[in-house]
Amino acid sequence: MTSYYKAEYIWIDGTKPTAKLRSKTKIVPAGEQPPIWGFDGSSTNQAPGKASDCVLKPVFVCGDPIRGEDNKLVLAEVLLTDMSPHPTNTRAACVETARKYAAHEPWFGIEQEYTFFDGIKPLGWPDNGFPAPQGGYYCGVGADEVFGRDIVEAHMDACLRAGIALSGINAEVMPGQWEFQIGPLGAVEASDHLWVARWLLYRIAEEFGASATLYPKPVKGDWNGAGAHTNFSTKEMRSSYEPCVRAAEALGQKHDLHIQHYGHAIEERLTGLHETASYKEFNYGVSDRGASVRIPWQVALEKKGYIEDRRPNANCDPYVVTRLITDTVCSAFERARSGKAAAAAG
Ligand code: ADP
Ligand code: MN
Ligand code: MN
Ligand code: MN
Repeated sequence: MTSYYKAEYIWIDGTKPTAKLRSKTKIVPAGEQPPIWGFDGSSTNQAPGKASDCVLKPVFVCGDPIRGEDNKLVLAEVLLTDMSPHPTNTRAACVETARKYAAHEPWFGIEQEYTFFDGIKPLGWPDNGFPAPQGGYYCGVGADEVFGRDIVEAHMDACLRAGIALSGINAEVMPGQWEFQIGPLGAVEASDHLWVARWLLYRIAEEFGASATLYPKPVKGDWNGAGAHTNFSTKEMRSSYEPCVRAAEALGQKHDLHIQHYGHAIEERLTGLHETASYKEFNYGVSDRGASVRIPWQVALEKKGYIEDRRPNANCDPYVVTRLITDTVCSAFERARSGKAAAAAG
């Protein structure tokens, strides 16, 4: 019996244009909850050196699948010393929006694509030149098709041991590129789980001497980019079809706002090629992987379900993406409902 456990505090830093994950360990007496803690914000782009203290407030705690037994992973949000959200804290606004629209019961399933790197080239790529063109790699099998499966398996096991709501994995279109899916869960929960799953990915890949990147277009040219397709439904959408179409249309009304917040360098990835729609336009369609928003064929068939926003980059902040989708769609649903009520009353 140990009289303490190791708590790995994980937080999102202030690096621009894309925030990074940081973590450090606190030894906590057994039986106690991980307490509020702090860190040097001047080393994470979160504070000036003269007033460097930032606060770590635990928001999601799970078992540590790497250290095992009673050790914990502690996702923390960053606060200022007056306990208000730090300017880099995007979770607080997500919590607020999720509360505001809780009656709609929004669910999110996020497909996180990523690329393994071995030094300066994607894992499995030749030292000089390129591998064979894309075509056989997606969901492939065999040493000539897939690279990094041992890491992917270890990451999947770690997520499941930690209780992360991982719903699957697959090899992607570009060799060395993979995907895992989180959810469906509420906006805040899906995002918390995704951030911890990202941390576990980097941490597990460390053990294999590989790195994982969420960069949206890791190889220029005729190679697929990496996205974070975000599947979304409300209670209404899960029971009938017409709200699924209305949700897609509502997203179209705020296209530019969403594109601005869907991850750095989105214009490199959303070119209109490689299973994307151009960032300059919005469209939606059934089964259409060249659309901004896809309505899956089963949803069109069963006349209920969810829609897939294919625009978010792999390097997006899920707190921002899920907040925007919730706000855009649920506010449109509420406007339509109050319009109908007014028409009925008038
Ligand atoms: P794709 O065919 O686009 O590759 P995936 O199988 O990778 O799709 O991912 C689909 C995601 O949609 C999963 O994460 C799943 O949890 C999620 N999902 C399924 N049903 C719903 C729903 N009703 N609302 C939100 N997300 C959902
Ligand atoms: Mn997928
Ligand atoms: Mn994919
Ligand atoms: Mn998808």
